[in-house]
Amino acid sequence: MTAACPACGEALQTGLREWHRVCAGCGYEGSTLAPHILEQADGGDLDEAARAQGLAQLRNANFQRLLDWMCRSLPLPGGRPRLLDVGCAHGWFIERAAAQFETVGIEPDSAVANATRARGLAVRGGFFPDALNADERFDVIVFNDVLEHIPDVNAVLAACWQHLQPGGWVIVNAPSRRGFLYRLSKVLARLGRGGAFERMWQLGFPSPHVHYFDTANLRLLAHKAGFSVDGRTRLASMTVHGLYARIRYSREVPAFKALVLTLALGAMAPLLAVLPADIEVWSLRRPP
Ligand SMILES: [Zn+2]
Repeated sequence: MTAACPACGEALQTGLREWHRVCAGCGYEGSTLAPHILEQADGGDLDEAARAQGLAQLRNANFQRLLDWMCRSLPLPGGRPRLLDVGCAHGWFIERAAAQFETVGIEPDSAVANATRARGLAVRGGFFPDALNADERFDVIVFNDVLEHIPDVNAVLAACWQHLQPGGWVIVNAPSRRGFLYRLSKVLARLGRGGAFERMWQLGFPSPHVHYFDTANLRLLAHKAGFSVDGRTRLASMTVHGLYARIRYSREVPAFKALVLTLALGAMAPLLAVLPADIEVWSLRRPP
């Protein structure tokens, strides 16, 4: 049985790997990769310390840039608009957003949700939208590196419409299939070196990617749920600081190889800032 493209409805075809899916109609890319959080071995197959250190630098810089962009470009109601952060993890984004917004986070990992709540942040355990009351409304719903992990993206966008005020916004911060590094990884995969491509999809990670969007197919998805795509911007896909730790995140990358990759990518950093972005942000508006 072939699955249909979630964006345009055409039958998906198998891409560069047996789990990779591509749509000839709209260019959407997806995967059949399934999350296996509960099957993770004791002690973890990922180096949590390296992950935390590596991600913190990049995330915090990108979150500040995203917040500045939102405050500059979104027409928002006065006072403190209500913001929902879906999959808020350690609460780094809502912590920064609290100056301008009344924030609520949802986090499915109960240990992470409890730890974040203990720091005084308003975080609910569970999944979106089940963790909300049916009549709860927000001015902004944010997905930071979350939407590309959720299989039924149409259902999620429909639920966003239900939980937004008229004129409210969905912010999608996600990897882009137009990104330079992503396209480079596909070229390498075709040449028989699939490591970077598999890493881009987070193959073998507890929660792999199931979608790679671009503006065209995100617009199709948005329209189906009643939104218009109003704006977009880009975020940095890497900072040189913490890069080594991020590459070592998966213990399968040996130290020497990680060092060589760190130096090569570090040298490319200024170039990446002007090449097609690997992380894009789209703002979707529920009509006023
Ligand atoms: Zn399609």
